[in-house]
Order: sequence, then C-alpha cells, then structure tokens
Amino acid sequence: MVQIRQKIEYDCDVLIVGGGPAGSALAYHLAKANIKTIVIEAKKFPRDKVCGDGVSPVALRELHTMGITQTNTFKKANSIDTVGLFMKNDQAHINLEKPDDLPFHARIIPRMELDAMIYDTAKKEGAVFYENCRMIDYKVYANKVVTTYKNGKKEGRLISKLIVGADGSRSLVGRKLRGYQPDPAYQLLGLRSYYEGVNGPRNRVDVYFSEENFPGIYWLFPKGETGANVGMAMIFKTCPKEASEVRQCFANHIATNPDLRKRLGNGKATEKIQGWPITFYDSRNPITADRAMLVGEAAGLINPLSGDGIQYAVLSARWAAESLIDCIQQDDCSADALEGYKNQLEKELAYDFSLSNLLVQFGRNKTLTPLWMNFLNILISRCKHDPKFAAIIAGIFEGTYPSYKALTPDFIMKILFQAGLDANGYLLNGLAQPGQLVADGAKFAVTTRNTVTELAKNPKAHISWLTDVAGKTLNVARHSLNKI
Ligand SMILES: Cc1cc2nc3c(=O)[nH]c(=O)nc-3n(C[C@H](O)[C@H](O)[C@H](O)COP(=O)(O)OP(=O)(O)OC[C@H]3O[C@@H](n4cnc5c(N)ncnc54)[C@H](O)[C@@H]3O)c2cc1C
Repeated sequence: MVQIRQKIEYDCDVLIVGGGPAGSALAYHLAKANIKTIVIEAKKFPRDKVCGDGVSPVALRELHTMGITQTNTFKKANSIDTVGLFMKNDQAHINLEKPDDLPFHARIIPRMELDAMIYDTAKKEGAVFYENCRMIDYKVYANKVVTTYKNGKKEGRLISKLIVGADGSRSLVGRKLRGYQPDPAYQLLGLRSYYEGVNGPRNRVDVYFSEENFPGIYWLFPKGETGANVGMAMIFKTCPKEASEVRQCFANHIATNPDLRKRLGNGKATEKIQGWPITFYDSRNPITADRAMLVGEAAGLINPLSGDGIQYAVLSARWAAESLIDCIQQDDCSADALEGYKNQLEKELAYDFSLSNLLVQFGRNKTLTPLWMNFLNILISRCKHDPKFAAIIAGIFEGTYPSYKALTPDFIMKILFQAGLDANGYLLNGLAQPGQLVADGAKFAVTTRNTVTELAKNPKAHISWLTDVAGKTLNVARHSLNKI
C-alpha cells in the first residue's frame, strides 16, 4: 500500500519564544545559516530588562563575532578594569586581568541598548520578529509544533518544526517542557535602581557584602559619565516574605552603607526599585525534548555565585544553533537528535554551576552567616597583597574563571595561611591590649553559643538544609567524576 504523507505548511523551521540575548543571538546564528526563523517577543524593542548590565569578556567575545563591538553604542559603554570588594571595615581593589584569548575587558551596557543591538543584528541576517506577541501555549505533534500567541486581544498560531524557549527566568516553555515550576532553592531575587549624578571612577564596579542579606550581594556598576546601576541579589529561600520588606532591605542598605553612600554622593535615583527573579541551573531539569529545547536563562544558565547570565545566554545560543542546523538539515528534531546540545552544556557548564550552587547553598544557613563573614574577611585580606589570588577571585565573579579551577590545593592553602596570619596578627595586637583580647574572646564564645543554640532550636530546618547540601555535594562529585 502506498502511504501518502500529508505536506505540512510550516511558517518557519524554528520558532523562538523570547528575543533577549539568548533568543536574538540564536535567531542571528540560524538566519545566517539560512534556517527560516521567527522570534515571538512579548515586548517591543528597544525594551528594558532588570539586570546589573555587566557584560563579561566571554559574552563580548561572542558579541564581537556578531559585529556588535563595532557599533557606537558599544564604543561608548563603560569599560571595567577594576573591581572593589567591600565589607564592614574592610575593602580591596582588584585590577582585572584580561585573558589573552578575550578581546575586551567587561563593559556596562544598559539592557535597553544591548538587547536592541543583538535584535538589530538578527533582523539584518533575516530573522523575523513578531513583537508585542506573547506565547500562551504550544503543542508538539509527531511532525510539527503548533504555537499559540496573543497580540493584544488577537490570537495567532504558528506552525514550526521545532520550538525554542528563550523566554527567561519565568519560562513558560520551560514549565511546559518540565511539567513543574522551578525549585525556589534554585532561584535568586534581583533588584535594581538606576541613579544619576554619582561619584567615583567610571572603570570600577563595586560589590558589597553584608550580614543581613548574605549569601546575596549588593553592587554599584558605573553607567555613562555620571550614572550607576545599583542593585541587590538575594537567595529566594532567605528573602523576606513580602515584596515591600525586600525593597525596604535594599533601601536601608542604600541609605546606611558608608562605602556605597560615599560613591552615590548627591546622586539621585531616576526610577523606582525594579525586581526580577533569577533562575539558576538545576541538573535534574530537562532542557531538551522532542521538537523542543531551552536556551539562556530559560534553561537556568546563570552562575549562582555572580548572577552572571548574559554570557551563558549567548554561548548557549551558538551551541544550540550548531545542533539545530544539523537537525533541520537532517529533518530530525527528536530529543535524541538534540542530545549533542545537551551534552555540550553538561560538558562546559554543569560542573562549574553545581559547585557554585553548592557554595551558595552553604551560605543559605543564616545561623552560619557570622562564620561566612569571617571567611570573606580572610579572602579580602589575601586579595590586598596577592594579585594572583585576587585575579582568581575577580575572575570567578566576572565569569572568566570557573570556580572548580580555583579549588586547587595551592588556592586552599593560601586561604588557610591567610587565616593563620590574621589570627597571629590579632594575637600579637592582643598581647599589647590584653583587655581587648579578653573582650573579643568573650564575644567569640557568645557567637559560638548562639550558633549552637540556633542550630538546636530548629533541628528540622537544619536537617532539611543539611540534606539539601548533601544532595548538592553528591551532584558536584558526579560532575567532577565526569570531568575526569
Ligand atoms: C537584578 C538582576 C541583575 C543581573 N545582572 C546581570 C549582570 O550584570 N550580568 C549578567 O550577565 N547577567 C545578569 N543578570 C542575569 C541576566 O539578566 C539574564 O541572564 C539574561 O537576561 C538572560 O537572557 P535570556 O535571553 O535568556 O532571557 P531574558 O533576557 O530574560 O529575555 C527573555 C525574553 O523573553 C520574553 N518573553 C518572556 N515570556 C514570553 C512569552 N510567553 N512570549 C513571548 N516572549 C516572552 C521577554 O519579554 C524577554 O524579552 C541579572 C539578572 C537580574 C534579575
């Protein structure tokens, strides 16, 4: 019997949901390879996205190949070669080394401008954008994907061979693909407010650690001649329940942190505080399925230590395109055919992300915060007189140095040695002022007693935290074995 295959009228080969850095960069690569690509984007470009606006050297290498670093917008962006680390009563300023294989130092580029540049480049290559169109559903069939979207009150449908979720931290494609919401243990909450009229060098980003939102951080990134992006990221599980309390926590920090105040000077906020979730990598979550895949933050590609996600958005876009071009040419969009992309993400990122995630989860236990604050003090002390050590710390935050590479015996010995030096210096000073030594000894005893009492008060919560940490430690062990 002759079987007649029904001819399908596809609107495009690949339908991308979301036109942020991941979606637009993917559209650029696919359109360049003559793959018919449509992007549906809920907003209209140029559009803002709550972010620190820090674009790492790795992201810039990707954008360079797309021609974006030749634009005037790029040329006038703040180039960053120094990072300031601030804690109560201590600070270190670190010069950022530029690895030879990366063409630029990091830049601060407001997302309103950055995303519009990537979008323009994709359009020039022939990608089609449906703006002000929100994807509301999709259904995968044996030979096609049917996607429904809303443009105002009007509803539309598009038929493609494959759908890609590039729809960010609240990804609807991701939720449908997994069948569940992201685990809040893998989410941060980020806040941002733009300022004008601030002081300080235009080539230095500042990062502030404080006890009240640890393991989260605050930052000030310079923007233009006198502007700044001021923000905060806090782990969801340790956030106050009410949004107003979170905003208050941020406002208090801005009002009272002396180092930040000095830099803000008479600067004024030019917008209300904006908030947005950050969803990071959970290796249990699928990122590919038959005729569907995720890129960028929809796939959780964020470094939980630094909150850096733009570089992983544009990297994953290129890797996804390499896989997809083959799939479309071979007319095979099955989950098996998309395995190459999944394996590449695992190989390049999973170990680093799982280790960074473990470090963040260690810090999640508020009872241990005083101990972490001591640890950060040790890191800052070492950074002040050991440029090589400082470069590694800065590289981890900048996304140019994977955290697993840092954990060498030499690096750990340096931390332990610094802890010894700090303790020695402290004891010598103490001999000159024995009264202070006794007072500090009493303070330490009280902190230790409080820590133990807190641990005993809520054993259930601590056991759940320990189980969580143990699970993530196993995960790191699994990825480290894969790396070997
Ligand atoms: C406060 C904060 C600070 C940050 N700071 C930095 C930083 O300094 N450096 C850095 O590298 N990263 C930073 N990040 C992370 C960074 O913002 C993300 O990693 C990055 O935006 C991910 O890009 P993306 O393209 O995957 O998703 P997004 O940029 O979120 O783009 C997703 C797009 O999808 C669209 N969309 C969503 N749902 C739909 C739908 N249903 N239909 C159609 N369109 C849809 C959205 O409108 C959006 O345009 C920060 C994040 C936050 C919250």
